[in-house]
Formats: sequence, C-alpha cells, structure tokens
Amino acid sequence: MNLKRRNFFKSAFSASAAAVLPLASCRAPAVESINAELEKILQKPVLKKQFFPSPVMIESLELLRYRDNFICRVRSTQGAEGISVSNNMQMLSLYPIFVNRLQPYFIGKDARELDRLIEEVYVYQSNYKLQSLALWVPLATIEFAVLDLLGRMAGKSIGELIGDIFNKKVAVYQANNFRGKSAEESIMLIQKNVEETKAKALKFKVGGRMSRNADSPPGRTEKLIPLVRKFFGDDMTIYADANGSYTADEAIRIGRMMELYKFDMYEEPVPFDWFEETKQVADALTVPVAGGEQESSLYHFRWLIGNRVLDIVQPDMFYFGGMIRSMRVALMAHHLGLPCVPHISGSGLGYLYMMHFVSAIPNAGPYHEFKGFNTAIPFECSTSTLTSENGVVTVPTGPGLGVEIEPGFIKKHKSVG
Ligand SMILES: [Mg+2]
Repeated sequence: MNLKRRNFFKSAFSASAAAVLPLASCRAPAVESINAELEKILQKPVLKKQFFPSPVMIESLELLRYRDNFICRVRSTQGAEGISVSNNMQMLSLYPIFVNRLQPYFIGKDARELDRLIEEVYVYQSNYKLQSLALWVPLATIEFAVLDLLGRMAGKSIGELIGDIFNKKVAVYQANNFRGKSAEESIMLIQKNVEETKAKALKFKVGGRMSRNADSPPGRTEKLIPLVRKFFGDDMTIYADANGSYTADEAIRIGRMMELYKFDMYEEPVPFDWFEETKQVADALTVPVAGGEQESSLYHFRWLIGNRVLDIVQPDMFYFGGMIRSMRVALMAHHLGLPCVPHISGSGLGYLYMMHFVSAIPNAGPYHEFKGFNTAIPFECSTSTLTSENGVVTVPTGPGLGVEIEPGFIKKHKSVG
C-alpha cells in the first residue's frame, strides 16, 4: 500500500472516519479477518425500525407512467403514501422487470422489514440471475417510494431513516462530458458549466470510453490534463473519469500525468470488471483510484474494499439497488478508512436521492457529483432552494424525500402492467 495514497484519505473526510483508520502505521491484517469484519457490517440492519412501533403493511405498489416518466406509488393499509421517480433512461427498457419480478412480492409485506425484503426479493423467482442494473434500477425505484412513505409517517428525512445526519449540505463537483471535442473546445465548455454552479471541484472525461487506449479525438487527453490545471488554477480540485478507457500500462502512464498536475481522483482507469488490473493501477499510482458505478454485487464490493483495489467507492443509488445496499458499501469502506463518493445517474430526481444518501454517510468525500437539476418534473421544496450556492447544495430535511411533486403531474400518469 502506497503511503502517499493513504495520506489522501486523511484529508478527504472527517476526523471521526480517520479515527478508525487502523492501517497507516501497522501491517495490514489478513484478508480473512478483514472479510469477517466487513461481513459483520453486511449483516447489520440499516433501516431504523425503532421509528415504527407497529406494522406498516403495504396495500398497493404501483408503477405509473406518463410519456417517458416513471413513478412508483406505494400505499399502506393505514393510508400512508410514498412516491419515487425512477431512473427513466433505464426504466424505459426495464419496467417489465418491475412489474413481473418485483411488484408482486411486496404486496402485503411489512415495510419496516425493508432490509429483509430486499434480500428476499433478490432470491424470489430467482431474481438474482438478473443481478445488474436490470434488477437494481426497478428495485431502487421501489425502495425509494417505501422510504418516502416511512419518512412521511415518522416525520424524518430519508437520510435519517438510514443513518445519522453527518452532512446537511453537500459540496458538489461539476461533472462534464465533452468527449469527441478538441481539448480547446472542451475547456471552454467545462468553464461554462463550472461558471453556472460555482463549484470548487470539477470532473472531466479522459480517453475514449471502453476503447482499449483509443483517445477521442486522438491526442485530446494528453493536451487536456495540463490545460485543465493551467486554466482553472491551483485552487480547483480536479477529478478525471476514464470510463474504462485503458489497459493497465496506459492507465498508469496517463495517471502519472494526473499526479504531475495534482489531480485528486482517477475514476475507472481500466474496464470496471478488470479487478486485477484496477489493483495494479491503484498500487502503482498515488492519485486515488475510484470505481463502483457499474458494480452490482455487495460481495464484489467486499472484495474490492477488503483487498484495497479501490481508494474511493462509488455505488450508484439506482444501479446498485437503493440506499440500504449502498449504505452497506459506504460502511464497509468507512471501516477501512476509505471515502464514499456515490455516482449519480443522470435522469429523474437522481441527484436528490444521492444527496439524501450523502447526508447520512460518515465517510463522504469532499465533493459530490453534480450533473444539473431536473426541471422537467414539477415539484416544490420548502427546506432547500435546490440550487448550487457557491458550489454547495442544501439537502432537503424531509419528511421523506422532502419534496412535493405536483399532484396534477402525478395524475397524468397511468398504471403500467
Ligand atoms: Mg464515471
């Protein structure tokens, strides 16, 4: 383990997290004993059931659609209601999995048992064979609606239901995707985005997504890495995302440039499921290597964390099947002193779910992904302006998701299936 890499973690998150960091000065414990420790975290319940003294039986769970927008509405037998907005980009293809493989399981169940229900529905109808975002996006949609329902009942935000509140505000990094454009044009477009949010950190794309070292266009990355630093100055925190562009050797070569220009995160240097190569790259470099947005398995994450493959974990609330599963990843990482910087998928209200999650993790990184606010879904929020004020967004304080979606908009939706 590279000591310089280790040092990053101290500055990346809170002192309380650093206090549990056992590895800086001593020999790493055997993987088996780390696995046993992480396994304990996997078995701990996440949802705070103590807020709900009596059963909350699910009477109905509906998937509603209006044009390309999908909403999940869940109701309890006592008349409580919860709403979620799905990841519409993925749900367009995946809604039959919601309707056929997940929805029937939840009717008549006690919502307080959400931890257990999520584990059981994974086995129900052999759903585990679908493990990937095909299963997890529809399940996350259900989980978010159930959490909204429970939060409204208890007068608690979603964050308060799954953890303690560590972050009432979330500092954002501006994510940019201008692959295919020249370095010079990319800089201008990145600047325009950063200007809008006043973010103190940014992320840009390097290489050519999953391309085995083909840049897009050729020569862009090597020009852009120094240019971004020069253009935005020493005070800007800079992250780069390769989306699995490289083989290990090339990833290390490009990573060395990032070190030279003091980058703070290198995301998916090699294809996401090349675990051995990811470790090779992370071990060779001092710039912290991040990954996990495509990861679908808790036990893959356990391995990636326990074997020090990733320096920063990035579960995606939707792609990974919701906040309870993502919280287990964050807590495993926290146990070994690693920060969590969740990935955010672009459509719907993904950023809201991500912010509630970040509010409740003890090892949040210094900046979190931001791809713009959704203005297509009409809602009101009385506890946050939901704008980036000098690069910082206030997390709504609830209850539930903390926003009221316009009832007229919900009414336009028709039941699916
Ligand atoms: Mg990424």
